[in-house]
Amino acid sequence: MQVIFISEGADLDALSTAFGITLIDPEAKILLPGAVSSSFRLAMKRFESKLKGKLIKINELKKINVLYLADTNNYKNASKKLSDFIDENTKIIIYDHHPIRSKLPKKVEKHIKKTGSASTIVVYQLKKNKIHISPEDATILILGIYEDTGSFTYNTTTEKDLRAAAYLLSKGADLETVKNIIEERIDQQQITIIHQLVENLQYFFLKDKKIIFSFAYSDRYIPDISGFLHMIKPLQEADAYFIMINEKGKTSIIARSKKKDIDVGKIMSYLGGGGHFAAASATVKGLTVQEIKNYIESVLLSEAYKKRVISEFMSRDIITVVKDTQIQEIKEELDKAPVIFVVDKKGKFLGIALSRVLKESLRHGIKDVKIENFIIDSIITFEPSTKLSEAEKTITASSQEYFPVLENGKPVGVINRTYVIKILHGQVFDSEKDIFISRERIKPKFLNFEKNLRKYLPDHIITHLEEIGKLSKKLGYNTYLVGGIVRDIVMSKKSLDIDLIVEGDAVKLSKEYAKLKNIPVHTFEEFMTAQLTLETGEKIDLATARKETYTHPGAYPKVEKATIKEDLYRRDFTINTLAIEITEGKFGILIDFFNGLKDIKDRMIRILHQLSFIEDPIRILRALRFAGRLGFKLGKPTEKLLKLAVDEDMLNVAPTGRINIELNYSLNEERVIDIIMLMNRYRVLHSLIPDFYMDEKREEILNRLRDTIISFEMFFSIKIDRVSNYLLALMYHLPFDISYKILQKYHFSKTVKFFEEYLEVKDLFHKIPQKDSDLYKKIKFIKKDILVYICASSDIELSERIIRILKKEEEKDLLLSGKDLKEMGIPPSPIYKKILDDVFKKYLDGEIKTKKEAIEYVKKHYL
Ligand code: ATP
Ligand code: MG
Repeated sequence: MQVIFISEGADLDALSTAFGITLIDPEAKILLPGAVSSSFRLAMKRFESKLKGKLIKINELKKINVLYLADTNNYKNASKKLSDFIDENTKIIIYDHHPIRSKLPKKVEKHIKKTGSASTIVVYQLKKNKIHISPEDATILILGIYEDTGSFTYNTTTEKDLRAAAYLLSKGADLETVKNIIEERIDQQQITIIHQLVENLQYFFLKDKKIIFSFAYSDRYIPDISGFLHMIKPLQEADAYFIMINEKGKTSIIARSKKKDIDVGKIMSYLGGGGHFAAASATVKGLTVQEIKNYIESVLLSEAYKKRVISEFMSRDIITVVKDTQIQEIKEELDKAPVIFVVDKKGKFLGIALSRVLKESLRHGIKDVKIENFIIDSIITFEPSTKLSEAEKTITASSQEYFPVLENGKPVGVINRTYVIKILHGQVFDSEKDIFISRERIKPKFLNFEKNLRKYLPDHIITHLEEIGKLSKKLGYNTYLVGGIVRDIVMSKKSLDIDLIVEGDAVKLSKEYAKLKNIPVHTFEEFMTAQLTLETGEKIDLATARKETYTHPGAYPKVEKATIKEDLYRRDFTINTLAIEITEGKFGILIDFFNGLKDIKDRMIRILHQLSFIEDPIRILRALRFAGRLGFKLGKPTEKLLKLAVDEDMLNVAPTGRINIELNYSLNEERVIDIIMLMNRYRVLHSLIPDFYMDEKREEILNRLRDTIISFEMFFSIKIDRVSNYLLALMYHLPFDISYKILQKYHFSKTVKFFEEYLEVKDLFHKIPQKDSDLYKKIKFIKKDILVYICASSDIELSERIIRILKKEEEKDLLLSGKDLKEMGIPPSPIYKKILDDVFKKYLDGEIKTKKEAIEYVKKHYL
């Protein structure tokens, strides 16, 4: 038999094409798929008599000798479904307008052209074969053309489509019927879907292109959604869109694109679907719409960025200096850029010199020295044509901040690390624009906090602050107490770090204050900061209020003076944005610009803007540290963006030195276990440690570590290396060579030693001796830091024995000392050690319990 295959969910174009084929081959039957679009169904009803006898169901199939594919060329799919009825002798004929994505058998007869509809192709064939077309036939055939070209408005419409339609009109096609079928097909359920789609619109910007995602949920299959998406205006204005309809865990994706470089056919093919560059679809199981969206976004980004090159992003604004220039000659230039490019007489690149270092040298009176003495030459450079994706790999692996771009060995530009990371990852975060995140208050909140300030800060500090406030006023500046200390005071806690921000010149203020009080001051002009040391030893940090701006892509961040509000906006979380003014006349006024007070009250960690975590991935760790320490939760958008940042692997592009510092802080916090569990929940540990997993065993070791550390520190008045202990608990699943690499990467050199020492002794405890004196022999040479870990990771009994033995060791001198032996009349000699050890051994095994018994034992055995 001859069978016409159309796809699942077939639309009018499939119906028209298939119908056209039945006019060419009257014996051919259209195989009805499980589901068809609503317009297909409408047309089927309207033309019931015409289609009678032309439709069959799958259970009526017999051996197929000719198989037609209409409006699809997915032979793989068709042959899978029809495998029982076809063989190598089955003749295949395809009428379609989609690009060919999968391989077709050789002997196929192809009628595949890039027209707006597949019906167009079959109409041309009918015309060519001079086959008679009745007015009713013409109406059925024209339906597909009208639908698939959006009544000739889609830009996939070709001249052929219009010619085919003209031919059909000449044969009497009835446009009234077309109009009815195409327009009157929207039902209640479809309306609910459209409503959802409108509500859930999300924008995603890819360079200058606007892409829309939207999704809807439905409890049953809704045919022909794509047919009425044109009713949603923003979709028509977008450069491309992806619509996801989730129905019982299965998501159908409809994708459309107006731009050649957004090939939705290709993107859908990654998801197991297909279509052409402008229109495509896929069905996905087992992923949430959010996951699908993230996936599509990452494909879009990598497609877009794979092709981009460094020269598109670099700054050409560079300062180039010939190697034998004296550094004083370029004094002026040093404020303009953080690095200077050094070249030879021919302009060839030799290396860079850091402006900071040059300025420092000038300050120390080193002037008539050539710049070549300051060259750093072992640095990574790029070429203008280096692909951005390549550059990222290199940038990630190095700790360099600025990367010179060289063309034929001559410097032509520079690119900076933060900027590359921002363009590569920023868009994903930008796409979250729909999340309302701004915490900025329309009007700042002011509160008088003078009383609290006086309550939580010592008097002499208050006095200094008042006097700095007085001097500020005199100089026309405003000065504020900011940062952790304000947060802590608001939370009724005492705090130590005193950070001041000056709207004015912090360096000048500090110098004058130091002179006034005759106290030491350190200034860092370049950073516009200073530090005062009080008579009592405390330090006060002062900084000029500032903001950093990027003037153009690839440029150095420009540090500029700013208002206190702008300075606070750069901070990590709203709870750290509170300021208390100390300027005379306004002393003690707390200012809240970003709802920090409310967030402290609600116990919430919130970032200030969308790009916060990618601007500085260290904030991921800080967020969890504060959340753990203070028992706060992450705000919803903050949590989402944090997860996104971890997913984007931002921690692996963060400077490793700063990760070290942050982990050190975290692992030394009192509520370290809470912080670790948060780092586990948000997969931060997974991103830092290979193959990390959390299970009951690790959780138990961590908890016991915390208790054991406290016990050891109390009993033995020592400080235990918490960082190494916790790191070992987090990495014991790794072979040493891998953990070694991780520890090296994050600069935990002390911990490397700790791991090595632990490895050397850990096997000693496979067999545990009965007698405490024998156990003591094993542990006596092991450092307490490591014994802590051994205790926490072995069974409780062993752990208690070890602690008991160590306690006894502490008492060794009290039990019996050399002095006691001397008083007993034993002349000092090496025998002392032997006696004392012997007595201690008996003490460990419980044979001697008191000093008296010890003395008696010595008398009996040694006198
Ligand atoms: P702690 O009590 O742990 O000292 P803190 O809030 O004082 O907490 P610091 O590390 O001393 O934290 O930093 C001082 C201030 O600098 C913070 O309150 C915060 O506003 C700001 N800050 C620190 N690190 C960052 C960062 N990575 N991004 C933005 N702002 C930061
Ligand atoms: Mg601090």
